[in-house]
Parts: sequence; C-alpha cells; structure tokens
Amino acid sequence: MLKGVAVSPGVAVARAYCVDTALAQREPQHLSAAALSDEVGRFDAACHAAGLEMDAVITRVQQQLGESEADIFRGHRQLLRDPALVSKVKSTILQRHVDARTALHELIDEYAILFDKIQDEYLKERMSDIRDVVTRIMNHLTMDEKPQSLTGHEPIILVAPEILPSQALLLEKLYVVGIITEAGGSTGHAAILARSLGIPAVSGLRGILKEVVTGDLIALDGRAGFVHLKPDRETEAAYRKLQREYFHLRDRLVENRDQEAVTPDGTRPELLANVNSVADAEAAVRMGATGVGLYRTEYLFLTHTSVPTEEDQLATYTAVIQAAPNRTVTIRTLDIGGDKLVPYFGHEREANPFMGWRSIRITSSYPDFFQTQLRAILRAAVHGKVSLLVPMISTLEEVRTIKKMLRQTIEQLERDKIPFAKDVPFGIMLEVPAAALCVYSLLREVDFVSIGSNDLTQYVMAADRDNPKVAHLCEPFSPAVFRLMRYIIRACLKHKKPVTLCGEMAGRPRCFLPLFGMGLRRFSMSPAFVPTIKELVRCTPREIAEETAVRVVRLRTYKKVRNYLSKVARQVCPNVTFLDTTR
Ligand code: PEP
Ligand code: MG
Repeated sequence: MLKGVAVSPGVAVARAYCVDTALAQREPQHLSAAALSDEVGRFDAACHAAGLEMDAVITRVQQQLGESEADIFRGHRQLLRDPALVSKVKSTILQRHVDARTALHELIDEYAILFDKIQDEYLKERMSDIRDVVTRIMNHLTMDEKPQSLTGHEPIILVAPEILPSQALLLEKLYVVGIITEAGGSTGHAAILARSLGIPAVSGLRGILKEVVTGDLIALDGRAGFVHLKPDRETEAAYRKLQREYFHLRDRLVENRDQEAVTPDGTRPELLANVNSVADAEAAVRMGATGVGLYRTEYLFLTHTSVPTEEDQLATYTAVIQAAPNRTVTIRTLDIGGDKLVPYFGHEREANPFMGWRSIRITSSYPDFFQTQLRAILRAAVHGKVSLLVPMISTLEEVRTIKKMLRQTIEQLERDKIPFAKDVPFGIMLEVPAAALCVYSLLREVDFVSIGSNDLTQYVMAADRDNPKVAHLCEPFSPAVFRLMRYIIRACLKHKKPVTLCGEMAGRPRCFLPLFGMGLRRFSMSPAFVPTIKELVRCTPREIAEETAVRVVRLRTYKKVRNYLSKVARQVCPNVTFLDTTR
C-alpha cells in the first residue's frame, strides 16, 4: 500500500491506465519492417498538424500581443522545416525500426547532451524551443494513439506524471474513475480538476509509473490518500464495499438538490459553484448550486492552441452564462502563470513561478489583450447577472490601473455602439497576503471581494500549492489562515461589502463550520461538493458554528485545529465527514 496526498475524495477500484505526458521517457517501441512506412506517414501527418497549429498561433499572437512575441513562434515554425530535425527522425524510424515517439525522444536526448556543453546562456535557452516543437509533434502523435488503445467504456484509474489542463478533455472522453499522479499538491490545478469532475484522486506518488503497468488492478481511497497496487481479494472486496457506500451516500445527497440550503434556525448561506466550462455550469445546475461564484476563464485559453479572439470569448462566456444556475456568474479575468502556462505569452522559465509573472501581472502588461477580454465579458454580460472579478491583486495601485482600463473599455464600447452591460459589479480576489492585510483600503475601490484560499494559504504558509513535499504546510487548517480569514470577513461585514470564498476550503465541511460562524455567507465550490455542504448547512445550528469560529482561532497548532473541527463536524453531521478527505 502506498500513501500519497489525498486531493479529491472518493473510492475507486479499477484497472490502471498509464499515460506518459508527451515528453516523459518510456520504453522504446519496436516495429516490424512492414509497419515502418505507415509510421513515417504518421510522423509526417503529426508535423503537418503541428505546423497548421503554429500558423494559427503566429497570426493570433501577432494581432493580439505584438510582433516580438510572434517572432518566438516563427522561430519554432522554422524548426519544423529544419531537415536536421525532420529527416533525422525519419531515418531513425527506418533504420532502427522504432516508432516516431521513440525517435523523437532520442533526438531530444542528443540535443540535450549537445546543449549542455554550450556556455552561452541565450543559446542554452534555445533547447526549450526545441522541446516545445517536439512536444507539439508528440501531442499529435499521442492524440492519434489513445482512442485506439481504449474504448472509453471500461472504467480506468489514470496513472500519470501529472495532469495538464489541456488533458481535461481526455478525462471526459475516457471513463476515468480515479486518478493517481506523481506530481501535484492538494490545491494545484490537477487537484481542482479532479475535484470538479468528482473523480477520487491521490497525488505525490513519485515513481509510481515504474511500479504499475496498464491493466494492473488498483484500489484507491482519495479521502485518505491510500493506493493499493494489485490488492488481494480481501482488500479488493473491502474497497468495493466502501465504494458502494460512498456512491450511495453521495447520490442520496444529490437528490436533495431542490431543497433549500437553510440552517435549522433559518440562516441561508448561498452555495455557488466554481466552473471552467459549459459542462461544469450544467453540473452546477444538477448539483443544486444557485449561481456560479467563480468562472475560471483560463481553461478556454489553455485548451486553445492560440489566443481566442473576442468573438470566440464572447461565444464561450455567453454559453456559460446561459447554462449557469439562475444565469448568475462571476467571471474572472485570465489567471495564468504559476502552474498554468500558455505558450503565447513568451513565458521564460522562472525560479519561483508562483511569485513571479502570473495572472494580473501578465494580463495588465498587454492592454490590448486584456481589454479584448474585458470587452467580451461586458458584452456577454447582457445575457445574465454577471460580475467581473480580477485575480491576484497585490496593491491598491493595481486596482486603480485595472479600473482605468475598464473605464476605457466601456468608453470604447460606447463609441463603437456595441451592446454591453453597463452596471457589471467589479470585484477583486484576495489571495495575496498584502492585499488581505490592506483589505480596508481596497474595499473602498470595489463592489465585492472573493477570497482565493488556495493561493492565500500557499502565500501565508510559504508552501507551494503544487508541491507534494510541502503539502502538510499548504493546509487550510493552519491557525494563521483562519486568523487572516477572520480579519477579511470582519472587514467586509463592517463595510457591508459582499464577500465570497471561492478556494477549495469552501467545499470542505470542516472549514465551512468556523467560516460560516465568522459570518461568511457566500461559498463557491466545485459543483460536486454542493450537495455535501448543503447537507451540512441543514444540520448546523448557527450558534454551534459561531462557537466553532471563536474556538478555532484560539487553537495554536494545525493538528489541534483539525482534530477539533473533525470532532464538531462528526457531531453535527456524521454523513459529510465520510465524504471528505481526512487530511
Ligand atoms: C484560489 O486561489 O483560491 C482560487 C480560487 O483561484 P485558483 O485556484 O484558480 O488560483
Ligand atoms: Mg488563485
């Protein structure tokens, strides 16, 4: 049995399906002589598809970001035409009887050795250009392979080095009942993705791909982070029983979707959903959320190989609004960087990506790009009750700069006589401690705030949310996190400004109790958790939550906080603790 980081609750028993991300090393695949010309054809087709993709990237990057950014991709495009690369791969396939991916791996290895000897830092960086181009070709080769090896009907537990945002579609296409990754912490994008799809997941199991092969039976408990490889009959039976109980309870709670989220004494917190897509917005309706408290627009950008145009964005935002519960959506502007990279911003490798050039720091340095997104949001907003949310704010100056850009966008739309919603509330995310500590001055400038507890926790604890080695620190049960949350909630109540919690804490029953007790009334979570939190709301008298809030900030260690909250949650509503992660 292995123990990893419990990132998404639930139990699964199924056969493993091992995927290596495009560039991960794998055993060479040998081919028969008869298969070689087909393989060369497959390689040509993948290069052609990668070339078309890059042409589109170049055009859009040039239009929206500028010439110098587009040059990066022109360089990549050039590499695709480089005979040294293309004919080298083909001759490896033909002479060594290997598949295209093996040949590409060998090429990368050879280049890596060559580049290692180069002193010049600028030239050294070109290695990442080669990797980028090769990854694109590999992606087309793997896209071609996966559907053949799986029908999509058999349940599988996906075992992978990591899950990339662009693989979200793959998860939906296959029948994935569990996820195990080597990398990733408890609130990284892969964990959030698994939680939003309601798929149990365990991360941080380094080296697991060396121990598992496709077809091995695995039993997994995403609540405790346990993974059994090739379990004996007894363990398998125990996990299958647990799985049935888990699903039975979860399904029973979903049936309560039409009941109101109201405490026994009549308090009505709002339970909202975090979504990435139209499918998520539909799930939010099915799960009984009353609106979308956080629409992460970056998934639109991450799953496009080039910058989406204003019209692309308008169509997608409109579709999400129309699918959302009560057509109520808080749309967040693009929040990339950190663990979510898109190729077209010319990202250079950074030593500390979460503290570097990410989110509003990127978008505000491309005014045309940012205003295109603002235009699309304001135009889509005529279709529902929409609010605009800006992530990763650190300073008052940033808020003022963004507001100025927003005013200019509105003037431009008026000049162009394009229909748009004029009265869209403007809010910021509080997820950087500097902003949280200056909440009183920021509140004067905005209509509402949203607490991003995933980032707030990682910054308060100085513990990377995506690094399993520090997952024990990047935990919301830290007394420091609760104290800062209380400070923010009090400020908002005092200034009568709406405040929503939209980090993963919102969907965790034990966190809900003290935060509700502190006066928080808006919780936005992965749709899958709405029924659980609703059940908890319906069992929780307000005074108990208020007492929990008072006591929790007096506790001095993480363990004491966790044990105390587990005890209260078990007393108030034992059902929901069965559905939560035990961390
Ligand atoms: C957060 O940081 O809590 C949040 C909701 O944003 P994201 O997880 O997308 O960074
Ligand atoms: Mg965040």
